[in-house]
Amino acid sequence: MNKEIGPLDVALEQLDIAAEMLELDPGIHVFLSRPKRTLSVSIPIRRDNGNICILWGCRVQHIDARGPFKGGIRYHPNVDLAEVTALAMWMTWKCAIVDIPYGGAKGGVCCNPKELSQAELERLTRRYINMLLDFIGPHRDVPAPDIYTNAQTMAWIMDTYSRFKGYSVPECVTGKPIILGGSEGRVEATSRGVMISIKEASKRLGMKMKGTKVAVQGFGNVGWNAAKIAFDTGIKVIAVSDSRGGIHNPQGLNPYKVFEHKKKTGSVQGFKTARNEITNAELLELDCDILIPAALENQITKLNAGKIKAKIIGEAANGPTTPQADKILREKDIFLIPDILANSGGVTVSYFEWVQNLTREHWTLKQVNEKLEKIMIKAFDDVSKTMEKEKTDMRTAALLLGVGRVAEAIETLGLWP
Ligand code: NAD
Repeated sequence: MNKEIGPLDVALEQLDIAAEMLELDPGIHVFLSRPKRTLSVSIPIRRDNGNICILWGCRVQHIDARGPFKGGIRYHPNVDLAEVTALAMWMTWKCAIVDIPYGGAKGGVCCNPKELSQAELERLTRRYINMLLDFIGPHRDVPAPDIYTNAQTMAWIMDTYSRFKGYSVPECVTGKPIILGGSEGRVEATSRGVMISIKEASKRLGMKMKGTKVAVQGFGNVGWNAAKIAFDTGIKVIAVSDSRGGIHNPQGLNPYKVFEHKKKTGSVQGFKTARNEITNAELLELDCDILIPAALENQITKLNAGKIKAKIIGEAANGPTTPQADKILREKDIFLIPDILANSGGVTVSYFEWVQNLTREHWTLKQVNEKLEKIMIKAFDDVSKTMEKEKTDMRTAALLLGVGRVAEAIETLGLWP
């Protein structure tokens, strides 16, 4: 990972580019560059051995001009305030691009979840949510899953929030298990959205999806589901990876079998039909048609962008590419679908979940997937039109659309008092 430039530097540089092109009022530009509210917390938890440990966590709420805050919660050893702030900012633009009525937020706890038991993770989640209670809620800020948090974590959040309210509040969090009001299709929504946008990109390039080769970095919720959908569509999944490294077979891997192997052994490595074990860095440079980074930030940098062979990059992860790398990829004519568009299927179905909870309805998987596809195609189209009009690349076009809509909302609301 490139340590020279952090995610917040990337997010701010992207905002600067959009602000200049949109000729934003300098005051609005500064407004957009800072979160509205940041809450830092020291979370005490009792370890299973009886010791007390204090973990640092935060919730960053960027801008809520278009609706309540919305954003995932990440448990990871690298979590810091700058990273969470960048992720909150990207959430704001993302919600505006798919035109759903939310503002951006993000939460994180600096910890290594692999070293915590389920009971410790539950105590951590409940205590963390307890410390955020006055700042979150169905019409204030609605959390969701992100790295190393999942449907179970969201169930604990719903329960903790509901216990303090005194009644059940499923609409306080999304990404819940279906039995607790979770939406059909939420688990794979981010990946489904990524694949829809890749399909749209391939149409524009005149490329057939069937038989093309994809490499997926990260084999968690988003990476595994992207690999699965790709495989089901007839795309050859030639490589996948997780935090320990990757596996490669130019003839194709069966992601279902890799998933079973990872479930048993904890890693994709050691999978029997893989030809080679590779590093995460090597995966990015493989000979493939489609590359899906689905792990962490700052993976494609000026150091490796020149070596990327894919024709399409679908950014499932948030912030995987630095601005310097963007320039190199553009010169190489690689079609890059930016994170704030490509991975917006997750928040879109989270929005569906929230709407279903507020109205006490439950939609079918078919309804969810049809609505998701419609929104993703419209967003892809809106960004493409901006790209053509402004004669720019897709990331810049997506930023122009997202930042522009949020700036307009702020100006229309006016400044109180
Ligand atoms: P996850 O915790 O389910 O999976 C993360 C994966 O990344 C795991 O396979 C892990 O082994 C791998 N990983 C961790 N460190 C790595 C490293 N140094 N190199 C390579 N791989 C590494 O998380 P997720 O929900 O799948 O999220 C993945 C990415 O997608 C993140 O950037 C997240 O912000 C983004 N995203 C997620 C959602 C969502 O709905 N979950 C929505 C939008 C964007």
